[in-house]
Amino acid sequence: MKKVYIETLGCQMNKSDTEKMLGMLDFLGYEEIRELKDKDSADLLIINTCSIRQLSEDKAFSRIGTWGKWKKSRPELKVAFCGCVAQKTGAAVFKRMPFVDLVMGTHNINELPDLIKRIEAGEKVCAAGEIPLPEKNIELKRAKSVNAWITITEGCDNFCTYCIVPYTRGRERSRSPETIIKEAKEALAQGFKEITLLGQNVDSYGKVNGKWKMVNGEVEGKGKREKGKGEIFDKEKIKSCHCEESCLQNDAAIQKENPSLLTAHCSLSSLLLKLNALDGDFRIRFTTSYPTDITDELIDTVIACDKVCECLHIPMQSGSSEILKKMNRRYDRETYFKIVKKIREKVPDVTITSDFIAGFPSENEKQFEETLTAMQELELDYSNTAAYSPREQTVAAKWEELFLSDEVKEDRLKRLNEQNKANCLASNNKYIGRELEVLIDNFENHKGKNILTGRTRNNKIVHIPHGKNLVGKFINVKITGAKTWYLKGELRRLEG
Ligand code: SAM
Ligand code: SF4
Repeated sequence: MKKVYIETLGCQMNKSDTEKMLGMLDFLGYEEIRELKDKDSADLLIINTCSIRQLSEDKAFSRIGTWGKWKKSRPELKVAFCGCVAQKTGAAVFKRMPFVDLVMGTHNINELPDLIKRIEAGEKVCAAGEIPLPEKNIELKRAKSVNAWITITEGCDNFCTYCIVPYTRGRERSRSPETIIKEAKEALAQGFKEITLLGQNVDSYGKVNGKWKMVNGEVEGKGKREKGKGEIFDKEKIKSCHCEESCLQNDAAIQKENPSLLTAHCSLSSLLLKLNALDGDFRIRFTTSYPTDITDELIDTVIACDKVCECLHIPMQSGSSEILKKMNRRYDRETYFKIVKKIREKVPDVTITSDFIAGFPSENEKQFEETLTAMQELELDYSNTAAYSPREQTVAAKWEELFLSDEVKEDRLKRLNEQNKANCLASNNKYIGRELEVLIDNFENHKGKNILTGRTRNNKIVHIPHGKNLVGKFINVKITGAKTWYLKGELRRLEG
């Protein structure tokens, strides 16, 4: 059997694409290897790249330098350069890395089997088209885990002035609920205990050209709640959509071209209700949420669905309304505060996590301090942080005269990280003494002690000393201590 090694850089979307690639490569007779020792370890080497910051892009090129050296003494070795940097750079990759056989952008992933056959036949191929190709019915090769990632939306239409995603991933499109539910059922049948719905802006799931498309009527889902966890689901209260009767003319043509793409309306809420109704003991998560796209209906659905977990990732990006405007985010500081307050009031034990950028062009000290105070006052449970990195093609990259020095950006990033740490510890401290349900995802021996690691419903990491491997089990844990990045717990009782 031929062997393939894939190095995946960047976000979960890339990891999800890697699972797709592995599914297709399996069909072509390739077996995945997880460790790359030397030039003879594999027949095909793939790098799935990320371009969100300059650092990520530089990493993509520096990682495969060794692969080029290997190819000199083993010319039959094939090298593929894929993902966001490939989409952005196209055939120019060949100039920089002449040993590369295949350049494949994000839009051409479904063409992989044909592309591999061509490079196997000795061709050099660049496939980085402007329009995403229709999905194929591929069986995914999921990474070993308790969580299965399921992409529900691809691309993004928001065009935040700093962000390259709309250029590398294309226009926003939603996958059909049938395709998603089929993938969820398959993952559950394979033993996955958690489904995470994935997209750049999952709350706009179901929109076509920026609008929800068509009235779809039925809301499904039993919406049963555990005692004490919120309201009983009211079928009447949660409506399935936001759109007008006039949208009812369905795009049979689009559907015919690409059956897995959504043309009929289905909102994230109605999708969650459908998934919640599937049989089995499992959890449902979704990420990422755009602040102003979180509807009351969605919040009510999170409360109503027993399997949907109480954690929302809602990137704020900056605490300053002036900077948010320059970032082309569709909210200001006050609006973001109102959204967080509403969610915290309605959803018990919810965790709210965020992303922030330090040193956006023109950001002054006062505006940066507004980010620190936002993080603190909102009691955000965790945040991803990064220093601003200019990205080619984006609007903000052209504001060179407003760029801040690397020293200022690094200093602000450091202060942001300190605030983040303080927030995480304060958030974790709140759970000491509580009993929480934990889904175990790891078992390992650490310094002579067996430790189980898992996550609570609201996504807190918990370490539990225990001698038995309980990966995939839901257990009740008494929280005995809190560190910055995790909780410590003791096993209470096993469920099921
Ligand atoms: N769609 C999500 C949203 O709107 O929040 C985020 C997706 S993006 C892949 C992940 C994060 O990368 C962003 O939230 C932002 O904080 C960060 N990011 C994007 N472009 C950046 C840039 N040019 N410099 C620094 N950080 C950036
Ligand atoms: Fe889209 Fe803005 Fe998120 Fe980038 S940061 S993916 S442009 S919403």
